[in-house]
Amino acid sequence: MLDVHAIPAFQDNYLWLLHRAGHAVVVDPGDAAPVNAALQTMHLKLAAILVTHHHADHIGGVAQLAEQHAARVYAPAREHYTFAHAAVKEGAQVRLPEIGLDLQVMELPGHTLGHVAYYGANMLFCGDTLFSAGCGRLFEGTPAQMLNSLQRLAALPAETVVYCTHEYTEHNLRFARSLEPDNATLERRQQDVASLRLLGLPSLPSSIGLELAINPFLRCDQPAIQSAAAALATQAPALQAIAPQQHADTVLATFTAIRALRNRY
Ligand SMILES: [Zn+2]
Repeated sequence: MLDVHAIPAFQDNYLWLLHRAGHAVVVDPGDAAPVNAALQTMHLKLAAILVTHHHADHIGGVAQLAEQHAARVYAPAREHYTFAHAAVKEGAQVRLPEIGLDLQVMELPGHTLGHVAYYGANMLFCGDTLFSAGCGRLFEGTPAQMLNSLQRLAALPAETVVYCTHEYTEHNLRFARSLEPDNATLERRQQDVASLRLLGLPSLPSSIGLELAINPFLRCDQPAIQSAAAALATQAPALQAIAPQQHADTVLATFTAIRALRNRY
């Protein structure tokens, strides 16, 4: 059986370690030390490293791990990396025979322009594009690019398990409830996450089905989100120009407004 293990790193990152029969693959190792510790404890041999985007907290350990373990590295073709790697583009298949898994590359611009996700066998490794009840900040891309990227993820099967890379869920859920106080699934998720976090457990992975029900960034077509976004953006002087009622594309305008509102939340 393939197993996926969360390695906590830094303040709130998760480095996802996939393993089967003594072989392992790690996604976005921002730090080599906790990965090496996990490999040692679990008696695993590192076969490959997958990179979703170029931020330091996702690649800081790549060069060291690749060298120490002679591991293959896959990283987005549209970004620049100093370590040796196979550059992957939209639709590319990443073959990981050591753990019996093939993953497909999706290019998802928004958080960064070259950002990719790896999808296959009902699993999605989405880097900083999709979080539980949230989405990544727009450091390089436009709201339209990020919305399009998120809509592609939303179209994946509901049972897809989503391995997000940050523990931002509680803060995201508070923001989501400020937009949708009457969403019962959101309230239940908030209770579930509070229990998990009390026990020191990750709130992740999530699933596409759950995110469709609770994540405001996947729910910009919902009248409740649209009216809440319009009301809040209108109240904030700096955001009045992007208030959804000023724009013809309501879904994009709503997304733009709630992304800006979340930045200040
Ligand atoms: Zn990032």
